[in-house]
Amino acid sequence: MLDNLTQRLARVMKTLRGEARLTEANIGEALREVRLALLEADVALPAIKDLIAAVREKAIGEEVIGSLSPGQALIGVVHRELTKLMGDAHSGLNMATQPPAVMLMAGLQGAGKTTTVGKLAKMLRETQKKKVLVVSCDVYRPAAIEQLKTVAAQAGVEFLPSTSSEKPVDIARNALDWAKRHFHDVLLVDTAGRLAIDEAMMKEIAELHAAVKPIETLFVVDAMLGQDAINTAKAFSEALPLTGIILTKLDGDARGGAALSVRHVTGRPIKYAGVGEKLTGLEAFHPERMASRILGMGDVLSLIEDAKKGIDEQQAVDFAKKLKSGRGFDLNDFKGQISQMRKMGGLSSMMEKLPAQFSQAAGQLPAGGEEKAVARIEGIINSMTPAERVNPELLKAARKRRIALGAGVQVQEVNRLLKQFEQTQKMMKQFSKGGIGQLMRGLKG
Ligand code: GDP
Repeated sequence: MLDNLTQRLARVMKTLRGEARLTEANIGEALREVRLALLEADVALPAIKDLIAAVREKAIGEEVIGSLSPGQALIGVVHRELTKLMGDAHSGLNMATQPPAVMLMAGLQGAGKTTTVGKLAKMLRETQKKKVLVVSCDVYRPAAIEQLKTVAAQAGVEFLPSTSSEKPVDIARNALDWAKRHFHDVLLVDTAGRLAIDEAMMKEIAELHAAVKPIETLFVVDAMLGQDAINTAKAFSEALPLTGIILTKLDGDARGGAALSVRHVTGRPIKYAGVGEKLTGLEAFHPERMASRILGMGDVLSLIEDAKKGIDEQQAVDFAKKLKSGRGFDLNDFKGQISQMRKMGGLSSMMEKLPAQFSQAAGQLPAGGEEKAVARIEGIINSMTPAERVNPELLKAARKRRIALGAGVQVQEVNRLLKQFEQTQKMMKQFSKGGIGQLMRGLKG
């Protein structure tokens, strides 16, 4: 996903190479590319206009420090402003001073409301130790009430039955009454959606809102809707005083622009993101990470976190020094890298988080069955002499046969490893020329 955007930004970087500071003249073209890229990522036009204006103002005069390229400096500004537009920090759910805290879910049919009720219920129960009650006001689809019942059982929270013969407002009022009498901390109210916005639905949800006066009115929206999400968000925010947004299906290949647009149109924070059908698929929404996603930079932040968890600090420092000193990347480093990656949760999980250009290269690295593959690679490298590890050119047919025998593998596997090593070596050269390190500095800068 987002390949176009990444390519555009790569071009932006190019147009600015060699400039010492960002000026009105030299950022014009780059900003045009950013604008197109954001349009392609489904960001709404008014949001783009505001963003570009903010970026222009902040970027002009920005000095290009250290080893940053002007393009990287500009992307750093874009990233910062995108983050700001989405609300900077994560905002959680409000709790009522007087329980129960009523939370009303609003959104189209299929947006993920019922699933999200289950996810929130589970989270509130497990991590915040809240006593949660859920109820469905969807009197039009008996199946929806059943679905909530199932979800509530999975989440381990209480479900208050309702029937198609009742009025939604009565269901909600009764539930509130029940929650008060049974000392629930939170009441989650699921509502009926329609396939498209319609008057009757808006009127009904507005009445529900008036009846239970929720502390949270959460608009649930499918991230895959793209531009349509914006119209829906507008309609709901005009009918209801929304307090937050939950963006679902971010595990798919949604372009992410909708997130920015919805936030812009409603002025409300995106509080959580749905990242899977299971009840565990809920994440706190982090504007900064979303900005990285929109820019196609991969989830650089969580990569850093993973790296902190796994990397042996000294090894990392030694490695960085080695890269800087210009000494080549040899098979010892390769082995070190492989075992570091293993600690970081597997090659493929790490590579997914890297910016697109690196992920592509990573596609050529071994994937799947990692544990075993890694152990074999280590076995093969262990069978080499120190000289061979530093200078793989020594590895002609006879030596390869000896190594294969020592490691208990076929010669083809030794060849495959050497190929992978060469590709990684190429990639490391790119890194050392100011790849990811600079990119990260760019983001912080
Ligand atoms: P509702 O009509 O708004 O109540 O929507 P549902 O909760 O019934 O969800 C509609 C469909 O979307 C179901 O198949 C859900 O499993 C699915 N769904 C909901 N949230 C997510 C999510 O975050 N990721 C994925 N992949 N699917 C989701």
